[in-house]
Amino acid sequence: GEARWQRELREQFPIVTAHPELAYLDSAATSQKPRAVLEAVQTYLTTSNANAGRGTYPWANRTTELVESARARVGEFLRDPDPERSGVHFTSGTTEGLRTVARDWLVPYLGDGNGNGDGGEILVPFADHRANLDPWLEARRLLAERGVDVRVRALPYQEVSGDYEHRALADAVGPRTRFVAATHVHHVYGGDMNVHRIRAAVGPDVPICLDAAQSVGHLPVHLDDPALDVDFVVFSGHKAMALPGTGAVWARNARGPVFRPAGWQGTPNTVGIVSLRAALDWLDAAGPDRIARWTAGLALRLTDRLRHLGPYEILGCPAGLAVGSPLPAAQRRHGIVTFRHRDIPSDDLGFILHSHGFMVRADGLCQAGADPEEGAVRVSLHVYNTAEEIDRLLAVLASLT
Ligand code: PMP
Repeated sequence: GEARWQRELREQFPIVTAHPELAYLDSAATSQKPRAVLEAVQTYLTTSNANAGRGTYPWANRTTELVESARARVGEFLRDPDPERSGVHFTSGTTEGLRTVARDWLVPYLGDGNGNGDGGEILVPFADHRANLDPWLEARRLLAERGVDVRVRALPYQEVSGDYEHRALADAVGPRTRFVAATHVHHVYGGDMNVHRIRAAVGPDVPICLDAAQSVGHLPVHLDDPALDVDFVVFSGHKAMALPGTGAVWARNARGPVFRPAGWQGTPNTVGIVSLRAALDWLDAAGPDRIARWTAGLALRLTDRLRHLGPYEILGCPAGLAVGSPLPAAQRRHGIVTFRHRDIPSDDLGFILHSHGFMVRADGLCQAGADPEEGAVRVSLHVYNTAEEIDRLLAVLASLT
């Protein structure tokens, strides 16, 4: 059954099993690493460490092969249906990935062949992770310096749930819409942002860039699914079981020019890339759909009890749902639950939870536009977390009412 499957996976995380009295509940920030990833790194560093793309001796050749096969592995992990017409670029994480798409693809895309100075409009998220807003504003600035005017419009949001407002989206889109940046799973609310509705609104020709930092490694991100018709998938390897300083951009290269990042020369993070390859192997063997069911189940367990504890407000959960009624499907979260206590400031609540061995995030959560004074506590889960950890957390939260 699922409990046994999960126990076997959890046992593969040495840092988790070494500290049964603690609970790591901050996987949206970065994940823990399974033994297979640690061993892949150890094997690489003790058998073939060298620089990639140069030298004709075996270690260098082996390193080059490992980097290239990891690139192919990213496409395979994402079930890229057309690898001949796509590319994978390694980065240090989602922040660098989005910045690279903005600077090295969007700026030339909107800047070239637009002699009339009209770069059109781009739609970007104003209440998702800051890493998915700043690069697009910077692109607008760079284009303005070249005399190209780009209008930046906000993707419309629903007031309560944190999802995009897909009806208003249809009104915001027009013939001048040239590009959309969106998020796959929200890093505060944990909800799926329903990117298929964005594709439906903009039509078949507008490139969409997806911040998949909270989805890759957590749920199936499969490009052969027609609901995932996007042009860029940007993610962090380190949130998907690989080492810190890893990430990738997958680019479809079909709508618009080919993505040619300027900064690809130089020594790549070979160790990180080796770890990413091992991480993707591990995740595929574990099963992203099964992982998603596990973490959504834990998030539901937490949400469903927490909303009955008076002083807590769950972000993105309509207040009318707070008591009694069953939780609608739209309120299911992909392993992320963020909340506040009515009377206890979030940094104090974080401190209390830390003192009980729960590692949670307690601050402004890097949300664009959020009031920095108004923090929240975020619990974020991965496959190594257990129902017992959630129940222990709930017991502490309940004692604070
Ligand atoms: N986007 C989202 C949705 C995220 O959750 C994060 C990580 N908190 C980032 C971007 C930034 O990722 P990284 O730190 O790997 O650059």
